Amino acid sequence: MNIVVLTGAGISAESGIRTFRDSGGLWENERIEDVATPEAFSANPNRVYDFYNTRRQQLFDPQLQPNKAHVALAEFARLSSVNMTLVTQNVDNLHERGGSDNVVHMHGELLSAKCVKSHETVRWNGDLTALNTCQCCQLAQPMRPDIVWFGEMPLYMERIYQAIETASLFCAIGTSGSVYPAAGFVDIARQCDVETTLINLDETDNGHFDNRYLGKASECVPRWIESVKAKYELD
Ligand SMILES: [Zn+2]
Repeated sequence: MNIVVLTGAGISAESGIRTFRDSGGLWENERIEDVATPEAFSANPNRVYDFYNTRRQQLFDPQLQPNKAHVALAEFARLSSVNMTLVTQNVDNLHERGGSDNVVHMHGELLSAKCVKSHETVRWNGDLTALNTCQCCQLAQPMRPDIVWFGEMPLYMERIYQAIETASLFCAIGTSGSVYPAAGFVDIARQCDVETTLINLDETDNGHFDNRYLGKASECVPRWIESVKAKYELD
């Protein structure tokens, strides 16, 4: 059974990652437009490097751990009868640490750096600065965080749409169902007769979804998986 799962900030928030939305318009005391746009990077690259270095370092805090929702999704995907495409808006590595492979990071990843010229990416665990240059170009180029900034196109959209069109189930977790991208994905899913489920703290789907689980992802995701396994006799 082909299943597409989209996860958003809500699933990471339960593990203790602070999100922009619940921080009163400031993110680590920075305004979004000063650190998360191409214009900010052109104007003051060091400020942008510092912001993402801080966020990347937070991933190595021993207190930060994947939660039951991350782990349940990874276990579900390992069933032989399940072919899951796991798409996330999150730039952390909690899905991978929860056991998931091939996570589609549509907004990029903190543990990756990108050549500003070729856009080739390389795994990156330490701090990134203006002194780091790429290995891909003949004339070495600066590297930037591999993050989709405001005003930039999300990644892998064709692949995501194709996965939804051929899926039996689409589930959005920890993301507002009425706001892009979940709202766009659920519309495509409905056009293709894909069964749709929203798992979120509050009801914000405007009736787009067939099923709703309102509550914490760590409690609702295992319940949703059990109900899917029972309904479709998956093992
Ligand atoms: Zn390069």
